[in-house]
Amino acid sequence: MSIVVMKFGGTSVADSEMIRSAARRAVQARQRGHKVVAVVSAMGNTTDRLIDLAGQITRRPSRREMDQLLSTGEQVTIALMAMAIEDMGVPSVSFTAGQIRIITDDVHGQAKIRRINAHSIVRELDAGRIVIVAGFQGVTETGEVTTLGRGGSNLTLVAVAAAIDAKFCENYTDVDGVYTADPRLVPGARKIDRITYDEMMELSSQGASVLHNRAVGFAKKHNVPIHVRSSLHNRRGTMIVSETEEMERIVVNAVALKKHLAGISLKNVPDRPGMAATVFHALAAAKIVVDDIIQTETTPKLATISFTVDLSALPAVRKLCRKMCRQIKGVTAEFEKDLAKVSVVGLGMRVHTGVAERMFAALASGGINIRDITTSEIKISCIIKRAEGAKALRLVHDAFELGRKKKPAAKTTKKKKTAKKKKTKKKTAAKKK
Ligand code: ADP
Ligand code: ASP
Ligand code: MG
Repeated sequence: MSIVVMKFGGTSVADSEMIRSAARRAVQARQRGHKVVAVVSAMGNTTDRLIDLAGQITRRPSRREMDQLLSTGEQVTIALMAMAIEDMGVPSVSFTAGQIRIITDDVHGQAKIRRINAHSIVRELDAGRIVIVAGFQGVTETGEVTTLGRGGSNLTLVAVAAAIDAKFCENYTDVDGVYTADPRLVPGARKIDRITYDEMMELSSQGASVLHNRAVGFAKKHNVPIHVRSSLHNRRGTMIVSETEEMERIVVNAVALKKHLAGISLKNVPDRPGMAATVFHALAAAKIVVDDIIQTETTPKLATISFTVDLSALPAVRKLCRKMCRQIKGVTAEFEKDLAKVSVVGLGMRVHTGVAERMFAALASGGINIRDITTSEIKISCIIKRAEGAKALRLVHDAFELGRKKKPAAKTTKKKKTAKKKKTKKKTAAKKK
């Protein structure tokens, strides 16, 4: 009996009807002979509402109390989901992270999973129950409640699948699969059938919120394929898998947009060993995640260090940088809070040339100025103004012809129509033969 782990995101369990529908899927998988674990998110936009609620109480809630609050969202869904399954006549049991020991470090709001006690899940599966697990939450060695970062239920999905040796996992969501661009921003985007872990990891880190980048990394490490699919129908979605040779033929597979970035430029930084280390040590100590870093020499003795962070981190970063400016003589700091980043991703970039040129030309055609450029082996990113983000994404998507193939306009002339009729006649004759 193989084990399948499925995850239902917030929109797939948004109300009682959706929860019933998710429950039905879990029951059907069991009827097909699988042992089933379902990881669930908080209902609809519950997490956003809870964050909002905290904001009504205080401007600076502690990270610990935020985790206490946010973890309640998923706890509601697990109980309702287990009830819905039992109501269908199938035994089920729900677990919070504390109950199955999803042990994390103590970084509230961004905790990393260290291990999961698979025994309790396996025991319940062996007893014939469908097991429901709360996504997004963890618990420290000392029993403190943590959360894994926004979108973290994806991580729970993959971590649970790896812990109990599931053959693959299914991520049920509100899109049919992974698209060549966020279909909400690029209506002509096309669904991708298969994509590699590495490409998906880049896409997720560059703003494709459909999967959490750490979840994809975890899946790669444990070689667990992920099937991203719609919770509304049974059609095949996108498989996230290991690389095969032919996958390198596609130069650019998809584009992504990171919408909320802030840029920081530290100017007149003495160009000597240890300066960058000093700057980034301070940021790391404050647990600030830095996006891209660029250092340029302005005079033989001075450099500018520019980097980007998520917009939400700007107040903390501003405070730290101002402190640095007071400590290091001559250094000044400039802040921009209106940035975004557009990226193209594809394995084929390793062997094909001309990708950068094509991307820059697409942006230039829309009069979009590039502030900074960063690259990896399979990705090129441009920092631009946020206001131009959606336009940039569409331009680049078009430049690499990633969209759905347009059907030729249905302009059938009289001549063509007769030809068509003849063809049909021929076909029928052939069939008759
Ligand atoms: P869930 O609640 O199921 O976890 P999310 O809202 O986190 O769902 O992720 C699904 C959303 O991801 C989609 O509605 C879509 O707007 C967005 N998205 C961004 N980039 C992509 C992409 N390349 N392909 C598909 N969806 C994407
Ligand atoms: N409920 C959490 C969030 O909205 C986790 C998740 O849905 O993956 O971010
Ligand atoms: Mg999500």
